[in-house]
Amino acid sequence: MNTASGNTVKVLLIEDNPIHVGLVKTLLAESKSPVFQLQFAGTLQAGLNQLDAASVDMVLLDLTLPDSEDLDTFIRVRSFAPAIPIVIVTSLDDIKLAAKAVEAGAQDYLVKTQLSRTSLIRSIRYAIERTRVRDAEWDSPMFRLAQRQFLKAAQFMGLDDNIRQRLLFPQRTLVVTLPFRRDHYTEVETVFGYRVQHILTMGPTKGGIRYHQDVSLGEVSALAMWMSWKCALVHLPFGGAKGGVRIDPTGLTSHELQRLTRRFATEISPIIGPEKDIPAPDMGTNERVMAWIMDTYSQEKGYTVPAVVTGKPLVLGGARGRNEATGRGVVYLIQEAAKHLKMNLSECTAVVQGFGNVGSHAALFLSELGVKLIGVSDATTGIYNRHGLSMPSLLEYVAKNRFLEGYPEGDQISNEELLELKCDILVPAALQNQITAENADRIQCKLLAEGANGPTTLEADEVLNEKGVFILPDILANAGGVTVSYFEWVQDTQNYMWTLEEVNQRLKSILKDAFHRTLNRAQKNQFDMRTAAMIEGVERVSQAKLARGLYP
Ligand code: NAD
Repeated sequence: MNTASGNTVKVLLIEDNPIHVGLVKTLLAESKSPVFQLQFAGTLQAGLNQLDAASVDMVLLDLTLPDSEDLDTFIRVRSFAPAIPIVIVTSLDDIKLAAKAVEAGAQDYLVKTQLSRTSLIRSIRYAIERTRVRDAEWDSPMFRLAQRQFLKAAQFMGLDDNIRQRLLFPQRTLVVTLPFRRDHYTEVETVFGYRVQHILTMGPTKGGIRYHQDVSLGEVSALAMWMSWKCALVHLPFGGAKGGVRIDPTGLTSHELQRLTRRFATEISPIIGPEKDIPAPDMGTNERVMAWIMDTYSQEKGYTVPAVVTGKPLVLGGARGRNEATGRGVVYLIQEAAKHLKMNLSECTAVVQGFGNVGSHAALFLSELGVKLIGVSDATTGIYNRHGLSMPSLLEYVAKNRFLEGYPEGDQISNEELLELKCDILVPAALQNQITAENADRIQCKLLAEGANGPTTLEADEVLNEKGVFILPDILANAGGVTVSYFEWVQDTQNYMWTLEEVNQRLKSILKDAFHRTLNRAQKNQFDMRTAAMIEGVERVSQAKLARGLYP
C-alpha cells in the first residue's frame, strides 16, 4: 500500500487488555505488503503522548480504558489528532457505542471476538484510504451523513461486511470541467460538473441533476447513495445516481443556461442513456433543462430518444403528474402517517420550508385537504400568518415576482424562525442540513415530512426521536418524484401513455405499500422510521448483490 511512509503503515493500538494486544500483534506481524509498525499504549494518556511524539498513520482504539470510557475516549483522541483515521476495536457488548463513534466520525469498528487477519488489515487499509479520499473532493457534511446513516442501518441489520465495504462508496463517478459561453460573446466560463452512479446492480441508474453553487463530488455522491436506498425501498428497478453542476443558476440568462446544459449533457453522454442512467430534475433544474438534455443526446444519436431523461415536458413524452409528483407523494404519505397518528388533517396546521417544485406542491395539496398553512419560505424570506395563508395568492405573487420577498399577507420571518414555529406538520423542502443539533430542541411539530434530501442530521434525529416527533424520512417522503419518473420511463420505452388518474392511483398504492412496510419494520424491531426505511432499501440491494454473485 502506498502510504505516507511508503509501504509501511504505522499503527497505534490504544488498548489495555494484553490478550487483545497480543492478538493484533500476531495478526499484523506476518503481513509483508504493507508492513505494519505497531505501537501500543495501555491508557488514553499514554496514547495521546505517543500521538504527540511519533508519526502515526492510524489508530486502533478500545473505548474502555483505565483512564477514559465510552465516547469520551474517541472524542479525546479525535480532537487531539483530527486528521488521523480511527478504527474502534470493541467487544460485542459495546457494539452500540462503537457504532456511535462511527456516527461521530470514526472510520469503522471491529468486533474483537470476530477479528481475523483479513478483516483487520482491510479495515486499516480502507480507513487510511477513506481519510485520504475525504480530505479531497469527496469530503462534504452530506456525504458523511449519508455514510453514517448507512453504517447505522448496516449495524442494526448485521450486514455482510463484504457488501458493507462496497456500498460505502459509489461504483462509478465522472468529474468534468466544462466551458460555456456567456451572453457577452468573448466571455467563457469554466465550471465543474459531476455524474455519480452508486450501484449498477439493480438495473439502470436513476437520479436528478442539480445546479447549485455548493455542488461537489461529496454532495452528489451522498444524493446518489440516497437514491439507491429510495429506489430499493419503493421497489423500482433502478440503482441510485445523481449529477450536478457547481454554479448558481439564478445568475444565468436563459441562453446561458441552455448552452451550459447542452455542454454538460455532451460531457456526461457516454455514461447516460435509457438503459444506462436516466437523469431527472432536482434543485435548480426543471423540465426545460430536461428537454435540452434530451435534445442534445438525441442530436448526438441521430434519432429521438425520449427515455434518456424523465421530468420532460408532456409534449416530449413527459408523464402526466410528474411535475407535481414529489409534492403529491409527500402529501399521500402525510395522509397515511396522520391516519396512524390519529391526527385529523382538517384540524392541523403546517409549515413548509422552500417554495420551489416540492415545497409549493406539498403546500398546495395540503391546503386542498383543509390543512391550515401558517408558514412558507424560500431563499429570500419566510412568511408567517397564524390565521392561514392563501395558496392562490402565494402562487400568483411568486409567478409575478419569482420570490416570496415582499409578500404582503403575513409577517416576514427568517428561515430559522420558520422551522421553529409551533405546528402539527413541518415539511422541509429546500436544502440539506436544516435541522441540526443546534435547533432540534426547538422544533415543535408532531410530524416531520422530509421533502428535501438530507434536511436532518443524525444528531438532530436522536433529539427528535426522543421528543416523540414522527419522522417521514427523505428516502420515503420524497420518493413520489422518482416513482413517477419510473412511470415516465416505462411509458417512453413502451410508447404508451397513461392518464393522470392511472399515474396518481399507482403512485398512491406504491407509496402506501412502502409506508406500511417501513412502519411494520419500525414497530416490530423498535427502530426509528429512518433506520427502518434504510434497512428496507439496503436489504433489497444486498439481496440482489448476493443473488447476482461477484464478477469475475
Ligand atoms: P427547487 O429549486 O424547485 O426549489 C428549491 C426552493 O428552496 C426554492 O424555493 C428556493 O428559493 C428555496 N431555497 C433555497 N435556498 C434556501 C434557503 N437557504 N432557505 C430556504 N429556502 C431556500 O428545488 P426542488 O426540486 O423543489 O428541490 C427541493 C429539495 O427536494 C431538494 O433537496 C431536492 O433534492 C429534493 N427533491 C426534489 C425532487 C424533485 O422531484 N424536484 C425529488 C426528490 C427530492
